[in-house]
Amino acid sequence: MNRQLRTSNRLSSVQFLRGIGPKRAVALEGIGIRTVNDLLFYFPRGYLDRSTIVPISQLSRSVSAGEPVTVIGEVYRREARRSKRSNRVIFFLTLRDETGFAQCVWFEGIKYYKDAFEQGETIAVSAVPTLDRLGRPQFVHPEFDRLRGSPEEEEPDWGKMINTGAIIPKYSSTSELGAVGLDSRGFRRIIRTALRHHLDEVTEILPPSVLKRQQLSGLSDALRAVHFPADREELQSARRRLKFDELFFLQLMLGYRRRKEKEPTGGISFSVESPLARKLVDSLPFSLTQAQKRVIKEIASDMRASTPMNRLLQGDVGSGKTIVALTAMLVAVDNGYQGAFMAPTEVLAEQHFRTITSFIQNLPVTVRLLIGGQKKKLREEILEDVRAGRANIVVGTHALLEGTVEFATLGLAVIDEQHRFGVLQRATLRSKGLNPDVLVMTATPIPRTLAMSVYGDLDVSVIDEMPAHRKPVRTAVRLEHQKEKVFDFLRQEVHHGRQAYVVFPLIEESEKIDLKAATKEFEHLKNDIFPRFRLGLLHGRLKSEQKDEVMQKFKAAEIQILAATTVIEVGIDVPNATVMVIENAERFGLSQLHQLRGRVGRGADQSYCILIADYAWFDHRKKGRDADFEREKRQAKVRLETMVETTDGFRIAEIDLQLRGPGEMFGTRQSGLPEFKIADLLEDEELMKKARKEAFEIVGTDPELRLPEHAAVKAHFQARYRNQWELSVVG
Ligand code: ADP
Ligand code: MG
Repeated sequence: MNRQLRTSNRLSSVQFLRGIGPKRAVALEGIGIRTVNDLLFYFPRGYLDRSTIVPISQLSRSVSAGEPVTVIGEVYRREARRSKRSNRVIFFLTLRDETGFAQCVWFEGIKYYKDAFEQGETIAVSAVPTLDRLGRPQFVHPEFDRLRGSPEEEEPDWGKMINTGAIIPKYSSTSELGAVGLDSRGFRRIIRTALRHHLDEVTEILPPSVLKRQQLSGLSDALRAVHFPADREELQSARRRLKFDELFFLQLMLGYRRRKEKEPTGGISFSVESPLARKLVDSLPFSLTQAQKRVIKEIASDMRASTPMNRLLQGDVGSGKTIVALTAMLVAVDNGYQGAFMAPTEVLAEQHFRTITSFIQNLPVTVRLLIGGQKKKLREEILEDVRAGRANIVVGTHALLEGTVEFATLGLAVIDEQHRFGVLQRATLRSKGLNPDVLVMTATPIPRTLAMSVYGDLDVSVIDEMPAHRKPVRTAVRLEHQKEKVFDFLRQEVHHGRQAYVVFPLIEESEKIDLKAATKEFEHLKNDIFPRFRLGLLHGRLKSEQKDEVMQKFKAAEIQILAATTVIEVGIDVPNATVMVIENAERFGLSQLHQLRGRVGRGADQSYCILIADYAWFDHRKKGRDADFEREKRQAKVRLETMVETTDGFRIAEIDLQLRGPGEMFGTRQSGLPEFKIADLLEDEELMKKARKEAFEIVGTDPELRLPEHAAVKAHFQARYRNQWELSVVG
């Protein structure tokens, strides 16, 4: 313990670095930088070099490309002016380089920008250039980076140096940091100081044999070069080294988790000859797909083994995961154990409960539902059934995780839609039995090559085949003003006896307002657009009985058009629903759209998904904010185009991953994975494999990291991943 503390404090508090006083130290602490070491690991968010810079005279060419570009110039004129048209104050900044003048404009934050620049200082500005009213190129709310203030400052003249091939690091900052002078330029300064005085205190953490085998540069070299590289090549190898570290320690963690799961600590060895499961399969109105059969076999062989199962079942929406999970639970029941089935929402738990109940109606199996908000008496009764073992299968939400829930003999825990639950919840559910088997199911198909890395501790099964006779959903994008036509079409389908969904976006930050808007929109649909149809509204704020009632009515076709917020995103199954209309589809994530579309196309009829896009939304939001909206708008277009192009969930997941990055997609924090600062799950797959090999090798040969060459690995791992270490090695 002591030793570990010393290790992490080896590089001293950042406050004592020249150029950083108490104020800056506090601001740095706000972004998690406490030690000089932390500062050295504050990597640039990008770089400026000759290849990224455009001379001002060439700017008009870049306008049509619609891509962000960078210009470097001297501050030539600053001017805050009231616009006659809008009566607002606008700030203009004119930059000059050898080739001409360029104008930057700010509509907001004038007070700040007015004094932000010095006459004659060199700055770099980046944005997508647009044209002003006179057709001259300009930058609206560009991102900027100060390169040099007054000449007496002890700092290189980056503006000049860049012409001789220098690469300039850019650092992210916040308004708090900016207020104490720690903008990108401020960071460049203090990091230079830190490198100058403390680089020799950085010690290597990887074993020499790994460095050699993987041809990695040393840690201190890499740290210097990632901030101030001599050239592209040096930068490349520095980044490779630093990425490797992140991937290596991730894999080390996964290696330990996996090792622990595989420990032969008496899991249940089920007999998989299950009359119940056999009866179920024989009673189905359809035959299982080959993929379902294969996956059931894989699960059965895990259940037979004496090590606890820890398996991830991936299958696109509608591929039929529920029935697979049910057969596994029946195996457990036949062996005298209980099965638990945990769903992410009440609506889903209820639906699964109902589906499962109807599938097993002729079998001697008792299923109970446990969700929040049940009456106390009912809840007590259910808990007692679970405790006494009278309930063979329990379906529920995270209410299953509560301390009051005790199982008589939990043998198999099924967790649906894994990405909503974290690793810890998995562990909690597991702890409710004696090493029960665990089956995790997800409809977010993870690109195959990544599954291994993200869920490195799970075995993976994939249902890669849809039930026969499904027609791919036809998807189209329509613009806001074409809505009437869409509604005409919808009317026609409902006339033919089909049902439809209309989905409104609900965005968490303003849930109340959105809900009001959704309710209003619903009234509008009901009274003005579809007065002759029966409509229902489903949203997250309804009580669970109310939700249940609405769903039942929709299932029974008493409701013909179901208006809903995204609560219907996962799992809802009404085969007669053939139209999915998504309003403001531009605001939805790609996986979310795919999930929503998965609600239709479940029966034999042709189904349709109509995405109504309102791109003006981005322009509206843009006002007064950073120029990020342009990128957002482009991404929204890519998302909708992707939806039209393909129904392949894996393909969609890949594109989603590219657009959003893994952190957001998997909710890394939630899933217990560390956030990467520099590595990229998608880009660095090859490196990941190498890191995995090295890490697993070490876990296998020296699990307690006793060898001297592993001392530094151990210290670093303990310092960074202490919980993981304790869970995996000590715990
Ligand atoms: P998901 O994988 O999205 O959870 P479900 O388990 O909800 O999919 O299955 C979707 C629908 O397909 C359900 O109505 C289910 O009964 C049905 N289904 C499952 N397997 C088959 C099959 N092999 N053939 C036909 N229909 C099936
Ligand atoms: Mg499902």
